[in-house]
Amino acid sequence: MNKDGGSGELTASVKDLAMRHGAVLVGVAPVERFDPLPPLHDAAPGGHHPRDFLPEARAIISIGQPVMNPVIDAPAVLATRELEMIPEHVRYPYFEALYGEVGHLVQDYMLEFIAQIIGQHLMSLGHEAMIFPTTGLHPHVEGMTDAEIWEGPASRGANKFSPFRYTFGPFSHRHAATRAGLGEFGYGNLVLTRQFGPRQRFNSIVTDAELDPDPLVTEPICRRCGLCQRACIMECITMRDDASVRDYRSVATIDRHAIFIDTPAKTDPTLCRRRREDRPDSPVRGDCVRACPVGGRSEHLPERLRRLIDDWES
Ligand code: SF4
Ligand code: SF4
Repeated sequence: MNKDGGSGELTASVKDLAMRHGAVLVGVAPVERFDPLPPLHDAAPGGHHPRDFLPEARAIISIGQPVMNPVIDAPAVLATRELEMIPEHVRYPYFEALYGEVGHLVQDYMLEFIAQIIGQHLMSLGHEAMIFPTTGLHPHVEGMTDAEIWEGPASRGANKFSPFRYTFGPFSHRHAATRAGLGEFGYGNLVLTRQFGPRQRFNSIVTDAELDPDPLVTEPICRRCGLCQRACIMECITMRDDASVRDYRSVATIDRHAIFIDTPAKTDPTLCRRRREDRPDSPVRGDCVRACPVGGRSEHLPERLRRLIDDWES
């Protein structure tokens, strides 16, 4: 029972508030679901568990907002076309910027705004709440260049530590989303929902309020087709049991029939970030998302991706 009358009533008021301010997906996880869970039994790294932010944490609210399909697909298609007003050398940065603005920044701010509103609502009812940025942090560190802050100590193969340096987010919204029953991790290292596949962003709110939990996903959502990994021109997404890519996230085996509450895959963020330097022909970011058939196949895709999906379907 809550200070304000009942967990059901409070849960409904939180969800209603989130939806009215632009969240399309809302789920609740009890904090116990942040204990290691099957199939991979991953523990949150030190400093990233809900109780690291709020020792009395009882529930985590996961909120999600889809990115519109043309926002994801059109920049990738247009970057491959000859255009009247945009010379070739400007096309890629121009459409990266378009995607970054309306496919990233808008959701990032809106989800932070919604989290702030939910946090204030909980606080007004006498509860504590912790909120987070939607994406990673980019701190200024004396004596380190931007690249050093972004990139890990070594690229794939040599890294026995995290390939991340100091840009990761303080809390994993993807792990919160699966624990709140909104979806399942896919082979692309993103959370898939039945409604939108990998095409959404998440944020989370940690609270000491008692809220009614949502059930975990019980049927696989990821089709295990591998299109996301094959679509990546940098080959930077690998399965965690791939023996050729050993690091702190490696596992001996993955049960491919299990529901992925934790991710079965990993992405080398340095390779992803360097895609344009290493491959001047690399597409606007997000082919791993565009190729995924969950949530409905997109038809407005660059030729390379269309061929890849056609081959898989035939
Ligand atoms: S954004 Fe591009 S380079 Fe990065 S993981 Fe996805 S497909 Fe690979
Ligand atoms: S492309 Fe296939 S394997 Fe990758 S996340 Fe989507 S359904 Fe899963």
